[in-house]
Amino acid sequence: MMECPNCLFRLKSVLLSVTRGLHGLEVSPRRWLNLQEYQSKKLMQDNGVTVQRFFVADSASEALEAAKRLKAKEIVLKAQILAGGRGKGVFDSGLKGGVHLTKDFDVQVHLNKLECRGKVSLTTKQTPKEGVKVKMVMVAEALDISRETYFAILMDRSCNGPVMVGSPQGGVDIEEVASTTPELIFKEVIDIFEGVRDDQALRMAANLGFKGPLERQAADQIKRLYDLFLKVDATQVEVNPLGETPEGQVVCFDAKINFDDNAEFRQKAVFAMDDTAESDPLETEAAKYDLKYIGLDGNIACFVNGAGLAMATCDIIDLHGGKPANFLDLGGGVKENQVYAAFKLLTADPKVEAILVNIFGGIVNCAIIANGITKACRELELKVPLVVRLEGTNVQEAKRILSESGLPITSATDLDDAAKKAVAAIPKK
Ligand code: ADP
Ligand code: MG
Repeated sequence: MMECPNCLFRLKSVLLSVTRGLHGLEVSPRRWLNLQEYQSKKLMQDNGVTVQRFFVADSASEALEAAKRLKAKEIVLKAQILAGGRGKGVFDSGLKGGVHLTKDFDVQVHLNKLECRGKVSLTTKQTPKEGVKVKMVMVAEALDISRETYFAILMDRSCNGPVMVGSPQGGVDIEEVASTTPELIFKEVIDIFEGVRDDQALRMAANLGFKGPLERQAADQIKRLYDLFLKVDATQVEVNPLGETPEGQVVCFDAKINFDDNAEFRQKAVFAMDDTAESDPLETEAAKYDLKYIGLDGNIACFVNGAGLAMATCDIIDLHGGKPANFLDLGGGVKENQVYAAFKLLTADPKVEAILVNIFGGIVNCAIIANGITKACRELELKVPLVVRLEGTNVQEAKRILSESGLPITSATDLDDAAKKAVAAIPKK
């Protein structure tokens, strides 16, 4: 397979949930909508979950203003990116930490280093190597934390429903806790029809180490988090740390919520918050047509159906000495306009020097693909060589459409032949 860490990161984010390893649970292999911390906290706040007071800002002056309005004795500045591990992250300016506490109110000094509006990037163990540009900062009231625990609710395929996961040793090193002291990770399977029972919430609160009146308070927070989980069609609600303060308050200091994409039709307000600024613009554009696009580093565009065929196509290109520039997964139930949109996307990448179409028609009708291809070639005045391998449903008709089109399309008999022809079609430098 391809060894580019960036590609692997993106592939992983599509195919896996980050928390899978941590919980040792089976999480469905999909990429769910992910919101920024401040957006997730707003949803929590609206559901009576305790979070600290906060504002968001996209400039140093706005952040300074927010800090004054908070009238807190201490402020915490948190870079807003769609990745965890910010506390231990590093900015490309050299500054350490995407979470900064400041007592002296010298917010300006911090912000000059932490600058927003995408001027600096933050790299954490969950981002690509080059980091993610920071566009916004959360300015929150800092509270003293006497203890940090970990708490999450997630959909677990092996239990066919939601599961609560918690640990008394929360905070920035939870992955370490999970691997070295798994006995400190507690689970409670939730019956989706019954919801979280009082005894379950209290047991989890006790396992998290909340004592005395804090136990009931934590159980109450757990129940509210579960209500939110159901209400917004979440696949995961993660709070790390769920902390306690010396004043005796249980507070959600961090928030990460993922949402079920299948529920978009009834979660319009949540999905309207989707911040695509951190996504590849081509991926975002592809999603509009129900296409999955993954950008890679080479020069051969791959137009395929199904993730498995995509991987195999990339591998065979690699085997014949080529490098995939991207892959675009058409999925099933294809319409001609999707094929057109797909070609437009593939050719929008200036790195692309050849296109390889590798479609296996099962549900997909090859003739629709062929019509889409010929239309796109004519209207987009395709400038790069095109190699097409079609197989399956209605393939004879598809081959006739392609050969009668008079377009310079190279046909291939099988995947191996297609990959060889695509690699050979790249102009030699
Ligand atoms: P990340 O998980 O991305 O590293 P967190 O929001 O969990 O970011 O912050 C990292 C650490 O910063 C927390 O574990 C906590 O110790 C500290 N922290 C975060 N928010 C606050 C706050 N409001 N007050 C005090 N400390 C905080
Ligand atoms: Mg955290």
